[in-house]
Amino acid sequence: MGLTIGVDIGGTKIAAGVVDEEGTIRETCKVPTPPTAEGVVDAIADAVRTVSSSHQVEAVGIGAAGYVDDKRATVLFAPNINWRHEALKDKVEQRVGLPVVVENDANAAAWGEYRFGAGQGHEDVICITLGTGLGGGIIIGNKLRRGRFGVAGEFGHIRVVPDGLLCGCGSQGCWEQYASGRALVRYARQRAVATPDNAAILLGLGDGTPDSIEGKHVSEAARQGDPVAIDSFRELARWAGAGLADLASLFDPGAFIVGGGVSDEGDLVLEPIRKSFRRWLVGGQYRPHAQVLAAQLGGKAGLVGAADLARQG
Ligand SMILES: [Zn+2]
Repeated sequence: MGLTIGVDIGGTKIAAGVVDEEGTIRETCKVPTPPTAEGVVDAIADAVRTVSSSHQVEAVGIGAAGYVDDKRATVLFAPNINWRHEALKDKVEQRVGLPVVVENDANAAAWGEYRFGAGQGHEDVICITLGTGLGGGIIIGNKLRRGRFGVAGEFGHIRVVPDGLLCGCGSQGCWEQYASGRALVRYARQRAVATPDNAAILLGLGDGTPDSIEGKHVSEAARQGDPVAIDSFRELARWAGAGLADLASLFDPGAFIVGGGVSDEGDLVLEPIRKSFRRWLVGGQYRPHAQVLAAQLGGKAGLVGAADLARQG
């Protein structure tokens, strides 16, 4: 099979790209994400038609934030789009006349990194995506593991703190409440309230109040050496690394890949994650350690991975 299309459904934009067998994006098209569920389906079809007009493409892979069924056809539940048992595969196939595969977006990103990014050469890879929340993907024995019902790898909602912080999913103490972009902002705001003198750079990037602090400010301030921003990254990394140690107990992978916007900061966040991972790895002195690697494909991982999953059929 030659060229396929990958589709990435973001909160503000839908991106479609023609991808070749080497994982190279030949052409892309972005359209705004419509507010209605049906509008999103139409926008996906429009974007696919636009990029396929000048290429001979054979299939479409769609990465969707949500629970996708075991047939890779229906979005059972999407937290950010009003999709409940949405038959996305059938609807898009009817509109574009190409075979469609639907995949959870974090799974698609994990597959992209495994095939063309940081995971190349590894057979057993666990990916976590530190974005607004925390997504995951499991590749064991060179296969994407989706579980019996298609919803494996939802690491963000493993409870790491009994009776901990309330999560958007309705549970309490979920990992993503402690290791995610949203958690990073919370840490920074709390610390800026407690020790404003140590947050001068950070506060200066907003309007001067802790509530105005956003994720991009924490990154920028950390690069400039702001103690509160750096400490906020360390706190996030502490939780992320401890969680990876637990995942090592479950999966024993050769490598962990850390992606998502937070990981763009590279060693600023990766090094403390590795340190925390080593600290919490059971029997760490007596066993080989999985590598903890930064993702390489950035925001393209989901699109490239979805296209490749469509190629695999
Ligand atoms: Zn949760």
